[in-house]
Amino acid sequence: MKRPFPLAVLATTLAAQNPATIVESTITTDDLAATIRFLSSDLLEGRGVGTRGDLLAREYIATRMQAVGLRPGGAEGSWNQPVPIVGITTAVTATLSAKGSQGERSFAAPDEFTAVAGSAEAAPRWQDAEVVFVGYGIDAPEQSWDDFKDVDVRGKVLLVMNSDPENDPNRFAGRTRLYYGRWSYKFEEAARRGAIGAIVIHTDPSAGYPWQVVQANHGRENFWLPFAEDQPTLALRSWATETASRQLCALGGHDLDALRAAANKDDFRPVALGVTVALSCANTLREFESGNVLGVLPGSDPDLKDQVVVVTAHFDHLGIGKPRNNDSIYNGALDNGTGIAGMLAIARACAALPRAPRRTVLFAAVTAEESGLLGSQWYAEHPTYPRDRLVANYNIDGLNIWGPTRDVEFIGHGKNSLTDLAQKVAATRGRRLEPDSQPDLGLFYRSDHFNFARIGVPAAYLKAGGDFLDRPEDRRRMKASYTTVHYHQPSDEMAPWWNLAGAVDDLQLLLECLLQTASLDQPPGWTPGDEFEKRR
Ligand SMILES: [Zn+2]
Repeated sequence: MKRPFPLAVLATTLAAQNPATIVESTITTDDLAATIRFLSSDLLEGRGVGTRGDLLAREYIATRMQAVGLRPGGAEGSWNQPVPIVGITTAVTATLSAKGSQGERSFAAPDEFTAVAGSAEAAPRWQDAEVVFVGYGIDAPEQSWDDFKDVDVRGKVLLVMNSDPENDPNRFAGRTRLYYGRWSYKFEEAARRGAIGAIVIHTDPSAGYPWQVVQANHGRENFWLPFAEDQPTLALRSWATETASRQLCALGGHDLDALRAAANKDDFRPVALGVTVALSCANTLREFESGNVLGVLPGSDPDLKDQVVVVTAHFDHLGIGKPRNNDSIYNGALDNGTGIAGMLAIARACAALPRAPRRTVLFAAVTAEESGLLGSQWYAEHPTYPRDRLVANYNIDGLNIWGPTRDVEFIGHGKNSLTDLAQKVAATRGRRLEPDSQPDLGLFYRSDHFNFARIGVPAAYLKAGGDFLDRPEDRRRMKASYTTVHYHQPSDEMAPWWNLAGAVDDLQLLLECLLQTASLDQPPGWTPGDEFEKRR
């Protein structure tokens, strides 16, 4: 639904005396740094979900929201939307053993496989369950693709490839990862089909991270929203190394490479491997509460103010964990102290406008993103406005700390009409909007905007660019080292070399996108044929 933005409106927003241009100047590096400094302080202990740091962060954000002039967005005048959380720790009590015509073998956790709960049952297990190789494990009618055909996989354990078919540029968006390619989809689809478990085959390229990252989840407390009575679940969710997967197939006389080659063809059908597996675990459950902080700027147009544009940023991080270099506090300064700082700065600018945008703007600081996007999922499932009144979502997860850039990355480029709008805003500001530079990582499905897309709300996520104005080589190197050295480590802390000037540029651009979106005559829409178009 490509809708050119009226030129007359653009001309107005460009005018120097426009209030939007004036309030832009309220977004400053000092304002951002102040918020980030507090949120990433050791006193907040890494803002782990359900901890004292979680409570302190929420109290602080609500205080700031009130100070800038937002109204409480929770029930009965509260700033807080409670989010119930279930923590499950899974221990393997009898390791994975497999039997087939070619022999039997047992596999060691977490070197060869991992097992994590798929439901709240106390003693989940697979008892001599048949293993079925289901290729990519995808059923996508709009892509004319069905790996399952008419095969009944109830009670089975599915061996499934990560990622989606990539050899046909006209299907599954070529190299771009769709949700079908995410491991979470694999487990969800297996559960919908009545399987009791699934084993995702790990490879570095298909996951985008090494086996150690998968291993780190094994034995650790994993978080869920409370399970609904009718929710399809798996007894256990497992991953296996490529080598272990190969050995599992060989026990039934099958070759993993041949199976994978067959899975790339339309006529693929699930293959019963002639192998059975047994695995027993014990789950320890803990129930507690976290919350989303909601602040509202009511719209100024009587006809449009019951429509809502949502700005999200997660406030949680990983809390206190395994020490690295004698530091056990995972401060999450960039991830996502910067996002909350950006959201509050934008909220302050919006609230300072002489006249509020036509539509209502909801600022949602969501919890438990790092634990599986749970806070935003809870909001999407329990929205404080009717679902069809939520017209767009802008998410902030990490800002540019390396210096000003010419470009800004738009994750989900082309998926909905927010792309066009942002493209035009960027152009008027002498900036360039670029599509996702790592389309195979599936970033559109890995932060909170995804939960809004899932309920049909056109969502966008602007990310730091890489075309730096000065010392580009140095800055690109620093940016790359954030991912390899500091991402999800205790060293994600503010440092003297941080440069928030680029973040200010990006936020001013985002502010203008938000203001325009909140005042469009017609709400944004999905690009025809997009995977989320039908969810609206
Ligand atoms: Zn994050």
